[in-house]
Amino acid sequence: MKMLLKGLVLFTLVFASPAAAHDPVKVVASFSILGDMVEQVTGDLADVTTIVGPDADAHVYQPSASDAIAVTKADVIFVNGLGFETWSDALIENSGTDASVFVATEGVDPLLVEGEVDPHAWNALTNGYIYVQNIADSMAAADPAHADTYQANAAAYIEELRAVHENAISEFSALPENGRTVVTAHDAFGYLADAYGLNFLAPVGIDTEAEPSASDLASLIDYLNETGAGALFVENITSPALVEQIASETGLEIGGRLFSDALSERGGPATSYIAMFEHNLGEIIAALQPSS
Ligand code: ZN
Repeated sequence: MKMLLKGLVLFTLVFASPAAAHDPVKVVASFSILGDMVEQVTGDLADVTTIVGPDADAHVYQPSASDAIAVTKADVIFVNGLGFETWSDALIENSGTDASVFVATEGVDPLLVEGEVDPHAWNALTNGYIYVQNIADSMAAADPAHADTYQANAAAYIEELRAVHENAISEFSALPENGRTVVTAHDAFGYLADAYGLNFLAPVGIDTEAEPSASDLASLIDYLNETGAGALFVENITSPALVEQIASETGLEIGGRLFSDALSERGGPATSYIAMFEHNLGEIIAALQPSS
């Protein structure tokens, strides 16, 4: 009996090793939201490393030595594109990596803000479908043996995103037309505003590096004092100081915190792209409810 057991163990080991030799694909994603989308599509077929982590600002990120090592070792790299990661081209070039580099926003219809391309395309779920399909197609090209799995995972994930989007459309359509103004620190929600007929205002533009001029801030505060805003939100990646100043000069209450350019830390309310969307949409809809 003992001999038989030993034989079985040996048998298992020998025949298990070819499967184990099928190493996961090493994937680097530039920021946390994109990293989650990649994980949803790849499951355990890839090891995903994210460069700009939770609650961090990818606009002004400075890559570290460990980022360079991850990029050097990567098989596949995903970036957002549309000018979001100002640091990624140099990081990838200087690393000498052989990785295939894919732009997740390929095929997205870009929004222009004062003549500049708005990079925050993930903030419309309909663009999320494009990101996810691009990730599946890119992974299928890089790892053709698992193409069917990537495509099936993407299709199921897009269905989940679609359910969140359709629910949001019905909730937003119930809000009054004149109570749809939302203020955030930087202009990260243009695609979301477009998708659901909202009006987002921000003292800082699409890039967090810019400082608002005193006169721009004053005219935003004047506008809000005249018209009122439905909701005022701080963001997870920017300082709350500006929004707090607007709150104190308009008497508007801060409705909560939105996740614009990064997921939350583990244990927070936005640890995945879908959770982030459900959190943001829930906060905005609650804040815009007409008081009865
Ligand atoms: Zn941003």
